[in-house]
Amino acid sequence: MGLVDLSDYDIKSINYYWVRRKNFNLSIDELKSVGIDGNIAQVDERLIPKLQEANRIFRIYGYEMIVKDAYRTPELYKLVQKKRYENDGREVTDRTFSGTRMPHATGLAVDINLIDLKTGQEVEMWNRADWPDGIFLDFYREKEDKKSKRYQELQDLLIETMLGLGFHLGKRKEFHHFEYPLKDSE
Ligand SMILES: [Zn+2]
Repeated sequence: MGLVDLSDYDIKSINYYWVRRKNFNLSIDELKSVGIDGNIAQVDERLIPKLQEANRIFRIYGYEMIVKDAYRTPELYKLVQKKRYENDGREVTDRTFSGTRMPHATGLAVDINLIDLKTGQEVEMWNRADWPDGIFLDFYREKEDKKSKRYQELQDLLIETMLGLGFHLGKRKEFHHFEYPLKDSE
C-alpha cells in the first residue's frame, strides 16, 4: 500500500479526527502516538485517478468532493473506539464505527461530502438531528418534505457517481462511506 496525500492531487480533504479531536476528547499527543500528525488525509495512491474522475463528474453538477476521512492507522481505530465508548456509549458507537473490520486501515476507503462550487461551502446532505439513523442509506428516501428530498438527491448523486466508478458502499451502508475493492496484491 503506497499512501499519498490528497492535497498533492488537488483533492480537498481533512483529517477528521485531527480536526474534530476536541469533540472526541483526543489530545494532539494521543493522536501523534497513533501516527496522526496534522491535518493530512492520505489514501492508497491507486484511488487517486478514481477520485479525480469522480470530481470531474461532480463538477458537471456544480459540486466537488471533500474527503472527510481517509486512511486511519489500526492504532487510531483502537484509540477512537475507546474514546467513543466513553463519550457516546457502546451502542451508538458500534452502529457507526467499524472497530473490528477497520476498512479505513486499508487506505482504500473514503468518507465524502460535497462542496458547492458557487459558495465554496459544504452542502448539507443529512440533518444532524437525525444522528445516527440519518447517515444510513435511504433514510430520507420515503420522506416527502423538501429538505429530505434535497438530501436524497444529493446522496443519490454522490452514490451513483462513486458506484459507477467501481466503489462499493461499506458493510453498514452509510451514504458517505465508499470502499474500493482492490486486494493488496493488485
Ligand atoms: Zn468511513
